[in-house]
Amino acid sequence: MRIEEDIKLDYSDVLFRPKRSTLHSRKEVNLKRTYKFKYSNNEWSGIPIIAANMDGVGELGVAKNLAEFEIITSLTKQHDVKMIKRCSYIKSIFQHIALSTGTSDKDFKRINDILKDHSFFQFICIDIANGYSDHFSKFVKSVREKYPTKTIIAGNVVTADMTQELILSGADIVKVGIGPGSVCTTRIQTGVGYPQLSAVIECSDAAHGLGAHIIADGGCTCPGDVAKAFGAGADFVMLGGMFAGHDEGKGKIVKKNGSKYIEFYGSSSNTAVKKHYGGLSDYRSSEGKTVRLKYRGKIKDTVLNILGGIRSSCTYVGAPSLKQLSKCTTFVRVNNQHNETFDQK
Ligand code: 5GP
Repeated sequence: MRIEEDIKLDYSDVLFRPKRSTLHSRKEVNLKRTYKFKYSNNEWSGIPIIAANMDGVGELGVAKNLAEFEIITSLTKQHDVKMIKRCSYIKSIFQHIALSTGTSDKDFKRINDILKDHSFFQFICIDIANGYSDHFSKFVKSVREKYPTKTIIAGNVVTADMTQELILSGADIVKVGIGPGSVCTTRIQTGVGYPQLSAVIECSDAAHGLGAHIIADGGCTCPGDVAKAFGAGADFVMLGGMFAGHDEGKGKIVKKNGSKYIEFYGSSSNTAVKKHYGGLSDYRSSEGKTVRLKYRGKIKDTVLNILGGIRSSCTYVGAPSLKQLSKCTTFVRVNNQHNETFDQK
């Protein structure tokens, strides 16, 4: 047994140190980025935020709205060729869509079927809870061989060594985060995880050294956290809970005591596993929870609030664009992130 003594941090452990700036207004801050990916050689431009491939978030209705902001949506693994065919606006938003897959034969056949008819999709997100298995790297390799010009996202991992391994196996973008998610119970069920800010700092450094990119996935609770993820070196930030609870996710709205709520659940919660796979096998336990969120209306308002927050972070640290945010970032460690006197408990 060994203990690593150096402290690892979460978003809530730090704040940006404000810096002198010549920016006059947050209106001047450019949040758009253009990336060229290591293996696919594809170029993508947009605001580098991604809606997670979770029920109620990674949906076509969400994608349509987020594409207007040039934000990406990672569709859930339940989207098949029929659903894509039925979507009348798919050709106008495909640049901002990622197709998700697990590593099972059935799952991969679904992706192959979609790509056969719709070869325009650029992003394939190979997504499993634990990206550390040998089998996973081999799978990434085989997808790279089959699709040399697609941009491959692979995850999830939280350490530099495995980030490098996935990149060397053919991933253009590595997805980082084990256990930080809003409806994730992995840390409780297994005791496994890594504080997300440190994971992002360490994995982005490893990926950038190899000319690849990372996604900070999970754990953002407010616009300030999204800005901190970019400040820490994330190229993209993936959001589940912050994009949940809106009209466009098509969740069922229930009324209670005059308020409206939408159910939201983790992709490996009992709710999700029952719905999509008919229940858990005996040897597995659920690693996600089901919660009831206050209904939040149109996703556009939430997006504007998030983007406004990030623009403001940039002006506080003197970054004229999102591209410069991490260069302008100095974090200070804090014991207390904000004053909670009037927060609803
Ligand atoms: P959030 O933005 O809600 O904090 O985190 C979203 C991320 O949580 C997702 O992109 C995914 O990586 C992770 N996630 C979603 N559902 C589950 C689950 O049931 N269990 C675990 N361990 N992680 C989940």
